[in-house]
Amino acid sequence: MTKPRARLTPQTLLWTQALGLGPLFVRREVLGEQRPQPAPEVNPTHAVFKPEVVKPEVAKPLSPPSRRASPAPPAASIPATDAARAEAIARMDWAGLEAGVQACRACKLGSSRHQAVFGSGSRQAHWMIVGEAPGAEEDRQGQPFVGAAGLLLDAMLQAIGLDRQSDDPEHAVYITNVLKCRPPGNRNPEPDEVAQCAPWLQRQVALLQPHLILALGRFAAHSLLGSNAPIGQLRGTVHAFEGIPVIVSYHPAYLLRNPADKARVWRDLCFARDLAHTKPVQPE
Ligand code: SF4
Repeated sequence: MTKPRARLTPQTLLWTQALGLGPLFVRREVLGEQRPQPAPEVNPTHAVFKPEVVKPEVAKPLSPPSRRASPAPPAASIPATDAARAEAIARMDWAGLEAGVQACRACKLGSSRHQAVFGSGSRQAHWMIVGEAPGAEEDRQGQPFVGAAGLLLDAMLQAIGLDRQSDDPEHAVYITNVLKCRPPGNRNPEPDEVAQCAPWLQRQVALLQPHLILALGRFAAHSLLGSNAPIGQLRGTVHAFEGIPVIVSYHPAYLLRNPADKARVWRDLCFARDLAHTKPVQPE
């Protein structure tokens, strides 16, 4: 197995520090003697988080996805009824799925978006990151998690040995959102939009078969787990979707507004890393 390159560059440090984020998500050995940092709240253990593996009472609102991959029907031929539409999506391969999302107008966001944001990263990744919905910059670029929140997510991932540019399944990530289209004005997703978009995410999970899903933010957690519990109650426990472990944490955009919660997110990341048995990346 090839060791991934550490991509924690001085530029990255400057960016994250400019955002006030550097000290938490940067390994101290990377910074060296010249730039001492306050010690992050590290080394969370299962004893601290007391993970209770896979609560059986956790609801699964997204129906079990089929793992079959057959040639996708053209997007224009996707049946209009919800059940038939979900069934058609559940048979799609990656190419058909991406084309289907780009052509989708199943909810009102389809008419207000600039472009749909399907997802990015390695389709062999062991880690799947699920956020809420595209923002203005994601809508412009067609990529999830760009801008300030994306920089923060990159720093968070790098701190636990993950890299969204990596092709090494153990260190790569696949990133997507619950909603593929931007809600106008970055308002919260509405229930009918989440429901209409759910089959796309279901199929992404079924095709990727990640070893672990990191649900970032309330909407991602609620959509995957079928829970309305506050995110603070969902953290620190191993949930499951289709037998795949799900760890819940705060969304990077929330973290930008509430930097005091960086320590909690760091614990969540370490918890997830320990669960996935990902080896830390050694700095160059
Ligand atoms: S948000 Fe989802 S369901 Fe709505 S139009 Fe976009 S892809 Fe389709």
